[in-house]
Amino acid sequence: MIIEIISCLTDNFSYLIFDKKTNTVAIVDPSEFNSCDKIIKKYNKLDYILNTHHHADHVDGNLELKEKYNSKILGFDLDKDRIPGIDIILKESQKAKIGNLEFEVIFTPGHTKGHIAFFFPKEKVVFTGDTLFSLGCGRIFEGTKMEMYDSLNKIKNLPPDTKVYCGHEYTKSNLDFCLKYDPKNFSLKEKIFKIETELKNNRPTVPTTIKEEIKTNIFLRCDDPIIKKSLNLNNSSEDEVFSRLRDLKDNF
Ligand code: ZN
Ligand code: FE
Repeated sequence: MIIEIISCLTDNFSYLIFDKKTNTVAIVDPSEFNSCDKIIKKYNKLDYILNTHHHADHVDGNLELKEKYNSKILGFDLDKDRIPGIDIILKESQKAKIGNLEFEVIFTPGHTKGHIAFFFPKEKVVFTGDTLFSLGCGRIFEGTKMEMYDSLNKIKNLPPDTKVYCGHEYTKSNLDFCLKYDPKNFSLKEKIFKIETELKNNRPTVPTTIKEEIKTNIFLRCDDPIIKKSLNLNNSSEDEVFSRLRDLKDNF
């Protein structure tokens, strides 16, 4: 599995997936036609388009790419009326394939009602859209905070060495937020230099891994007494801690 990271719009990531054995090409969340097509042209084909959710910054390339390459568009059942050009409707926990690459549909509502992540268990790769970001998580637009927290926990439970490819380059702002409420986290501090260097050189800060996120992403650490203490929520449940963190981040 070869993955090409495509920077789109101001801070979106689309991803091209190439399965060499079967010469199969797919793209995850094409934000726009031009930036994606520049990369797709090298392969001169596009078999599949995978959408994590219906937002414009994740599907705006769908129709033009489908028309040019005759691609099949895959999206989730609950979003079937909102994903432009959808051909193949996916269900929760369904297993499917692009070429020889098998993936599982993880239902991750919260950001939107029909959000999904694509998990490739053999390759240990997950595309998380706007659910889990490097050091952060998506805003809650359509679901509830508890749905979002459950969704994040599903992703948290994937194998620790799973590589995480998320929908946006929000790492720097997420890092600043994590540092504010978890200032003594050594693993977090260790990441500052690397993240700043990548961004200075116009390089993406993705992928991250589940293991790294568990150590550093404050939204995956709501059960940690240190985080509870820093929020003055010593006796609160993880749900309450998550809820408070999400509110604080919305206004950060
Ligand atoms: Zn979105
Ligand atoms: Fe987005």
